[in-house]
Amino acid sequence: MTSPTPAGPDSASARKSIRVRGVVQGVGFRPFVYRLASEERLGGSIGNDTDGVVIEVEGPRPRIDSFLNRLVAEKPILARIDSVVTADLAATGESGFRIVASEVHGRVSTGIPADAATCLDCLRELLNPTDRRYRYPFLNCTNCGPRFTITRRIPYDRPQTSMAVFPMCAECQAEYDDPLNRRFHAQPNACWRCGPRVWLETADGSKIESADPVADTIEHLLRGDTVAIKGIGGFHLAVDGTNETAVMRLRDRKHRYGKPLAVMVRDLDAARSVCELASDEEALLQTPAHPIVLAYARSGNGIAPSVAPGIPWLGVYLPYAPLQHLLFADGRVKALVMTSANLSEEPIAIDNEEARVRLGKIANVFLMHNREILQRCDDSVAAIVDGGQQLIRRARGYVPLAIPLPMEAPPMLAVGGHLKNAFALARGRFAYQSQHLGDLENLKGLEFFEHSLAHLSHTFEIEPQVVVHDLHPGYLSTSWSKEYAKQRGLRLITVQHHHAHIAACMGEHGLAGPVIGLSLDGTGFGTDGRIWGGEVLVCTHDRFERFAHIDYVAMPGGEAAIRGPWRMAFAHLLAAGFAESEARELTGATDQEVRLLSRMIERELNSPLTSSLGRLFDAVAVVILKRRTVDYDAQAAIELEGIAIEQPDEEMREDYVPGLAAADSGQVAPRVLGIAPLWRALVSDIRSGVPPERIAAQFHAGVAQGFIRAAVAAREKTGIHLVALSGGCMHNRRLARLLRSGLEQRGFKVSQHRQVSPGDGGLSYGQAAVAAAILGTDSTR
Ligand SMILES: [Zn+2]
Ligand SMILES: [Zn+2]
Ligand SMILES: [Zn+2]
Repeated sequence: MTSPTPAGPDSASARKSIRVRGVVQGVGFRPFVYRLASEERLGGSIGNDTDGVVIEVEGPRPRIDSFLNRLVAEKPILARIDSVVTADLAATGESGFRIVASEVHGRVSTGIPADAATCLDCLRELLNPTDRRYRYPFLNCTNCGPRFTITRRIPYDRPQTSMAVFPMCAECQAEYDDPLNRRFHAQPNACWRCGPRVWLETADGSKIESADPVADTIEHLLRGDTVAIKGIGGFHLAVDGTNETAVMRLRDRKHRYGKPLAVMVRDLDAARSVCELASDEEALLQTPAHPIVLAYARSGNGIAPSVAPGIPWLGVYLPYAPLQHLLFADGRVKALVMTSANLSEEPIAIDNEEARVRLGKIANVFLMHNREILQRCDDSVAAIVDGGQQLIRRARGYVPLAIPLPMEAPPMLAVGGHLKNAFALARGRFAYQSQHLGDLENLKGLEFFEHSLAHLSHTFEIEPQVVVHDLHPGYLSTSWSKEYAKQRGLRLITVQHHHAHIAACMGEHGLAGPVIGLSLDGTGFGTDGRIWGGEVLVCTHDRFERFAHIDYVAMPGGEAAIRGPWRMAFAHLLAAGFAESEARELTGATDQEVRLLSRMIERELNSPLTSSLGRLFDAVAVVILKRRTVDYDAQAAIELEGIAIEQPDEEMREDYVPGLAAADSGQVAPRVLGIAPLWRALVSDIRSGVPPERIAAQFHAGVAQGFIRAAVAAREKTGIHLVALSGGCMHNRRLARLLRSGLEQRGFKVSQHRQVSPGDGGLSYGQAAVAAAILGTDSTR
């Protein structure tokens, strides 16, 4: 592979070695460098090794400088450059440029790239009748296509992927071997002649004869059928997103009521027609990860009402696989509900046989293919929150990209929490979070966890020496960790839930601390055995002090109070001094329910005390929206945020602000944010007919102000002016915006999540940071 271009005789030659670290393998980096060197008429070579790529270039200095500038400025779309280190070498007179074969030995730090959406070049070929890959559902190149989901083990090379069973035809092989071709070393390279295929099946598994399975799928969708479509990271269940009957039928069959569904639309213009998109939301939609983006829905957008009932947002995304583009290509399908093919919270189906068994009663037909999915991976969900990206579900397109850690970590496993879980493996200065695994509460969830753990620990060659878990004794992840550590004789570290949330935020921003952490959350186990969630912590990575929290209130029925937030509202109202009869009227409880709950609270029967802000949001939503129960986690709170969306950021009303009760001198106990006055103001407003959306806005403003003042009090005591915002409540855009702007006005520097989820999906990364800090402190003692 020698370039014929001479280095040129114009000036004395220099030679440099250039070491590039980051995501530089499997993303077309070597052919890119080859082209660049050829254009700059430089001699030298490029090769992969375990650390990234090593380049040597030789030629006149100005051209080497130009090469270095362009190396960063024009890098391939999927590449991420973390560092470029150069050194001078003696010139050898080399004038041609070579790609050297790479022998990768030892520990690999580059791993596998994430899956990437179909690039524009491939899309043009897909829709070009004269191209040899016209309408081929699996075309890809070095700039796009599946990676993580088709890879069995490292190094990322075709024999290690599920493409191994498809030997390339001569034309594909020639592309694969040509350094100047867009498909040079594109591991999933394929075409009609040599690659995977699609077909249609009925629900009972018999093949449907079809000249064009994609065209027939479109007919089924337009008819209102539910189609199981095998995708990149798993099966989707798809229905026409404009067909209310079809959407309702899918919900019935999936037993998924209320929880918003996402819609895929043809392109950016179509996305603009269903949602009001800001430029940063448009950019997020089009990143190589192509996440589902939660954006403000346009009224009268033609989307079936039961896609996202009761909220003003719609999860919208763009086709990211050629097969999906083909479903939209003739313009007849406007929007597809595309939901993970599973029942309730089970992991997404990936295997053809598994799909036939699990989805046979849900889907009318199956659009199958024969490229095996080796790692299940849901669609990622993201939003623009307070001016920046926030990941709500980190999966396809983001996994398994490394997230930097602010300190050195020994090889470790952090298992995360319970719901919406993802674990993290860490070593050195990096953590690798797993894909979103869902709820870790049944055998299927645990199997997914163990499978993914085996895969990622193999991929990154991380053999954990330390296992990190949540403080909650009842989490399946806790008992699993104890057993796992015991069997292998590993060190076990326990991390408090809300400390882990703040450490995650500190970690992704490289903050050493101490910080004032506002850990505003649903529920997590506290060091006093109570259920925390509205916490003002003073944190470093290795320790925290609880400065203040929302005043405790009973959570009658424990978990039942999450599914039936009217219970929380009832408990809050009693605690705020309302009579039983008033609490009954405001929560719509029956006489029998009142008797039962009052007794539970009074006798402390199955009524743990909680300081959760998420549960306070639930309770307030019950009283304002008259919603007694929820179909999915945080539904009431999300609807409460939703109704306030048109309201201006409220002038702060003093009686809505939770007051900080000063600790008596000498008292060690944390301060308490009292919420009884807030409840009295809120109920008084309801009774005097203040519109619910206004009350909702005032509530957001009051809560934010209460925590801002608590942060000021913490600063007075500690001198710390850095605030980290974390916890599931930070998904609330209004709250995030009010907190950040209010804190900045008071002179704080504020950090919030951008790469890691503020919710429990980000917990494992925070646990890893805490454990690494604890171990680091230990070793320096
Ligand atoms: Zn491509
Ligand atoms: Zn081929
Ligand atoms: Zn949490």
